[in-house]
Amino acid sequence: MENKMSRIVMKFGGTSVGSVERINHVAKIVKSEVDLGNQIVVVLSAMAGETDKLINLTKDLSKSFENSEYDVVISSGEQVSAGALSGLLNSQGIKAQSRLGWQIPIVTSGDHKSARIEAIHSKELINLLELNEVIIIPGFQGINSEGRITTLGRGGSDTSAVAIAAAIDADFCDIYTDVDGVYTSDPNKVATAKRLDKISYEEMLEMASLGAKVLQTRSVETAMNNDVVLRVLSSFSDIGEDKNGTLVCDEDSIADKKIVTGVAASTNDAKLTLIGIKDKPGVAAEILSVLADDGINVDMIVQNISDDRKTTDLTCTVPSDESIRAKELMEGLSSNLSYKDLIVDTNISKISIVGVGMRSNAGVASQMFRVLSENNINIDVISTSEIKISVLINKDLTEKALNTLHDHFELGNISN
Ligand code: ASP
Ligand code: MG
Repeated sequence: MENKMSRIVMKFGGTSVGSVERINHVAKIVKSEVDLGNQIVVVLSAMAGETDKLINLTKDLSKSFENSEYDVVISSGEQVSAGALSGLLNSQGIKAQSRLGWQIPIVTSGDHKSARIEAIHSKELINLLELNEVIIIPGFQGINSEGRITTLGRGGSDTSAVAIAAAIDADFCDIYTDVDGVYTSDPNKVATAKRLDKISYEEMLEMASLGAKVLQTRSVETAMNNDVVLRVLSSFSDIGEDKNGTLVCDEDSIADKKIVTGVAASTNDAKLTLIGIKDKPGVAAEILSVLADDGINVDMIVQNISDDRKTTDLTCTVPSDESIRAKELMEGLSSNLSYKDLIVDTNISKISIVGVGMRSNAGVASQMFRVLSENNINIDVISTSEIKISVLINKDLTEKALNTLHDHFELGNISN
């Protein structure tokens, strides 16, 4: 792919290093880049399923397992992968060495379980690269200013890879996974979904937060803020096969801007409706702050005025696994915030269309609503951002909505 020497960060996810066979295949992919004369840093996830196992171990030991030790336990899966690949490469005559997060160091904020990377000391990494040593770094882990091990939140190895790419000024950050790129929609639900050649950071951010699981949302943010060019590639294709993949890059590097780039569904939300709350200033703020104070993330919000002009209905969505807690909090509201009824609906799905072209094209929302209505799909709640329109619909109609919208915006016909 590259004709001059490039500096590349190659990140492999859990399924890519999930077995002896897969780790051997990763070694071949790394070797193929080394043979081209490229400087390589490899960032690895734990073997598939390993992090879950380690989390369960802490839960089995104690319901109140110390967060700092939790990070020591769950960061160990990545250490195993890094040592394993490095040892294997060495046995094949490829000079490689593993460097753990604290050895580099990758310095993070203090918050255990979801720390943020603050600094990466890259000087020694660069020296090793200049000596043609392959560096293997476990993702997901760092060290805080108190010298304690931290982890970056689930899926955090993507963010490690991007931050390292920024720190060493890499030409590319290649994210190898079990799919060959980012698709116009979920190929398991939309048969005509197509792989995108390129997608902008902003679109990818929306798609990632809508549940397109290829990249951790924070890693896309980090790439966007540091101009790191990401390539999403499959580690399951054969060596030498054309690596197509998807380039995640700046909007200006995409010549052919589509109005709609992707259609996504997220089925992990619950809808909460409070009926007949008092219509006076401050009520919505108070209700939402009760949820916020408990760390519950509210996504969509709508408020309707009711007939008598004295009361109103408020609808919002929260992650479905927090809906029971949210309901309890609503039931405990003070009498000042009384309401007539509370309805919790988990049989909903959020369908979103995403595209940077929406900024300069009016009428996309009305097209979306018309297509849904022509297909007898009722819209419950609507929310929009500059490059996204989301609607809530009945969960049973998820695939129908995805497919009709995908067809209408002709996403199956994009030329790659
Ligand atoms: N192993 C960690 C997880 O499963 C981090 C990662 O794979 O990105 O969340
Ligand atoms: Mg991942």
